[in-house]
Amino acid sequence: MKKITTTLLLAIGLSSFSQQKNYTEQDSLRGSITPERSWWDLNFYNLSVEVKPDEKYISGSNIIRYTVLEEQQRLQVDLQTPLIIEKITQEGKDLKWESNGNAHFVTLKKPQRKGEVNEIKVYYSGHPKEAVRAPWDGGFSWKKDNNGKHFVATSCQGLGASVWWPNKDHMYDEVDSMAINITTPKDLMDVSNGRLLKVVENKDSNTYHWYVSNPINNYGVNINIGDYVHFGEFYNGEKGKLAMDYYVLRDNEEKAKEQFKQAPMMMEALEHWFGPYPFYEDGYKLVEVPYPGMEHQSSVTYGNQFKNGYLGRDVSKTGWGLKFDFILIHESGHEWFANNITYKDIADMWVHEGFTAYSENLYVDYHFGKEAASEYVIGTRGNIQNDKPIIGTYDVNQRGSGDMYSKGANMLHSIRQLVDDDEKWRTILRGLNREFYHQTVTTKQIEEYISNTSGIDLTQFFDQYLRNAKIPMLEYQVNGKQLRFRYTNIVNGFDMPLRLSINGSEDWVYPTSDWKSKSFKKDIQLVNVDKNFYVEYKKI
Ligand SMILES: [Zn+2]
Repeated sequence: MKKITTTLLLAIGLSSFSQQKNYTEQDSLRGSITPERSWWDLNFYNLSVEVKPDEKYISGSNIIRYTVLEEQQRLQVDLQTPLIIEKITQEGKDLKWESNGNAHFVTLKKPQRKGEVNEIKVYYSGHPKEAVRAPWDGGFSWKKDNNGKHFVATSCQGLGASVWWPNKDHMYDEVDSMAINITTPKDLMDVSNGRLLKVVENKDSNTYHWYVSNPINNYGVNINIGDYVHFGEFYNGEKGKLAMDYYVLRDNEEKAKEQFKQAPMMMEALEHWFGPYPFYEDGYKLVEVPYPGMEHQSSVTYGNQFKNGYLGRDVSKTGWGLKFDFILIHESGHEWFANNITYKDIADMWVHEGFTAYSENLYVDYHFGKEAASEYVIGTRGNIQNDKPIIGTYDVNQRGSGDMYSKGANMLHSIRQLVDDDEKWRTILRGLNREFYHQTVTTKQIEEYISNTSGIDLTQFFDQYLRNAKIPMLEYQVNGKQLRFRYTNIVNGFDMPLRLSINGSEDWVYPTSDWKSKSFKKDIQLVNVDKNFYVEYKKI
């Protein structure tokens, strides 16, 4: 399990108003902490899967070890069709279960005593859902490389890890550690999470035994099978010597050796801003896959064609986006925000994507300077839709607006301006990774931590940017030496200060929804709102 701090899930009403979708019973079974989930706490998974690429078929088992929190006899395990459960056992005895779609309710025979550690073993098999557009519409990607060899990968964020293996498919609870044992055809290799302990040779196949010694979220678990070559290095980081290993298709070794020089540069920049890489014990890996990329913990998957930008494109349109490999930096940034600090409910996915989109600008800041970083993050505003709130709907596995990326990053960039002390801001970012180390969190915990450590009450600020789709509008008037101003388009009580430039010199103003005025020494000729704040403005 992960240590869970006690802040309750955020009250529902704030964000759900904008979601028109009708949710089903299956959405609730997938997205809520049901009574059949809440009474037991995950300790350990031992997942064994044989993958047969020729047949697009998998079979295997997962041992689920848990601690009993409350004495209950009915346990929910998740596995999505068309995969089927073949058998479930506890201490060698067969158990019965009832299925409701993808949720399976197991009746345990053995009395479950509080504090006891028990295991069930779930056997399963079938042809898993094939990815349509990985990683967004994920599942199994069954591809071939240029030499005609199988190239196979899993991706399942949002969709759920139960698309390919049986588990407790809710993000609030994580195992403390995990074994992943993947059997592949002889001429291929599997790269999963954590460390490779051993390879066992079978008659017609090999089994790769991987071990993750840290808490891991279930969508972070992955299989990658291909004709891989390996190279690696050691990085001297904040917590000592870190193994950095790279697995790419045989034909791409040369390109990768050049492009992955950015990996230690990433580590240097992000450790500076976020603190030590959170999984030294498991190492860090980049693994080539046949889709753009995903933040699989300690085996970050990469499919960006060994190009800078996002598939060669600058998402900021400023030029700075071509100075680095977007996927390498972004997906690695998730090691801090997604894998170290993990949302309990996907409605709070901005905690992953907002901070990680922001990490791109921190990489630019570290290597190219503050001005370049500002231009980059401001440039990404071109991707913002302001269509609906960033926070989604709780308890039904529903993420919010795609604005969680660029708008989330620009919201954090605005907080940096409010803090107005870069060392303090860095301390806050590092503090988040220490305070919530290896934990699952709610957005409220993150919001309160930033308010408390910055000394600025950001309650309305976060409501504005996370729970409302509107962008604050500063309206102003100039009367000689006097500037009048107010905000519109804001939630009640929103009062973010702004840095302006008046006749070329900087000054702070403190707008609210009421008209206020401020007098200057000379007639006001020129008013500029500091573009680092994410607001709109107009003279009226
Ligand atoms: Zn991301």
